[in-house]
Amino acid sequence: MSSATGADVAGRAARLAADMRERGVDVLLVATHVNVRYLTGFTGTNGLTLIVAEKFDSRPPHRFFTDFRYAAQSAAQVPDEFDRKIAAGDLLEAAVRALSSFGNAAGRRLGFDDASVTVKQHARLAELLGAEWELVPCAGAVEQLRAVKDAGEIDRIRGAAELADEALQGVLEAGVVHRTERDVAIELELRMRRLGAEAPSFPSIVAAGAHGALPHAEPRAREIHRDALLTIDWGALHEGYCSDCTRTYATGERISARAREIYELVRSAQEQALAAVKAGPSGRELDRVARELIEQAGHGEHFGHGLGHGVGLEVHEGPRLSRLAGEEPLQVGNVVTVEPGVYLPGRLGVRIEDLVAITEDGQEILSRLGKELTVVS
Ligand code: ZN
Ligand code: ZN
Repeated sequence: MSSATGADVAGRAARLAADMRERGVDVLLVATHVNVRYLTGFTGTNGLTLIVAEKFDSRPPHRFFTDFRYAAQSAAQVPDEFDRKIAAGDLLEAAVRALSSFGNAAGRRLGFDDASVTVKQHARLAELLGAEWELVPCAGAVEQLRAVKDAGEIDRIRGAAELADEALQGVLEAGVVHRTERDVAIELELRMRRLGAEAPSFPSIVAAGAHGALPHAEPRAREIHRDALLTIDWGALHEGYCSDCTRTYATGERISARAREIYELVRSAQEQALAAVKAGPSGRELDRVARELIEQAGHGEHFGHGLGHGVGLEVHEGPRLSRLAGEEPLQVGNVVTVEPGVYLPGRLGVRIEDLVAITEDGQEILSRLGKELTVVS
């Protein structure tokens, strides 16, 4: 269980309620696990919350539902701004029953997450609620709050990043050449667990030589040879928060001039884009910084993914840094990756990724491993 407590989540539901008032939504139904956790601190797997825009009776403003297995856990984790209910059956039905006591019947609007609720669930919800309630799509409302981290969240992400760095250093010291990609990935994940991670934050990528040309390469039961590039993309889940980092190494001095040239190109694109991360520019502008350099070197078509993404309770969350990102400026509290890559199909790939928090003073880089091309054995 995580150390998340009511103190950590204090104020989040109130901020969301203010947002709902602005949207003219009376109650927001939140059912995805990670969003329930963010708002309530509840780490169990079966929880649901109703965020109420205007307190309507003498009870705590918001509602939280779980089942009997989580009675003690939810009492310990979910703060008093939530009226906690242990539901005997389906949580959604219990939530709808609670809604029947809400305010007066005229024009009630229930926000729901149209990005996660299926068409089938939507139909059932509409049927349970009846004609009095209008269902209002509110996808992204919680995610928007989650994109701006508080100091406690950044502490946890920093902790996850430190732990992941230490695990990789241990793996590199033990040696990677002549082992299989799979074996290295397993050891890396095991070391993260031993250092206190709950899990890897995503399945580790360990990709040598031409396999590194696949941005999402799965580790194979194939030996890592000498004198190749080796890309490792890994992260830890620690106290509920993720880290994400990539390094590309050389497994010998005798890598090709082409490999060195691509490495230096990606490194300079990564460093320039990373230096530009601060409150103000949009994710699209930051993507442009790295992409222009890579395009000028003639490799635009070999950089097929976005520059980066937000990291928090989930390893991929807002804000996006890509050509498709919006024009909204990045803000203090965003934690994002900067990870350009160049992939030459059938030949090699290089990706370098750092995790960076945007602060009042500028930025704090959370990844600590060096980026000079390093030979590992
Ligand atoms: Zn990554
Ligand atoms: Zn990433």
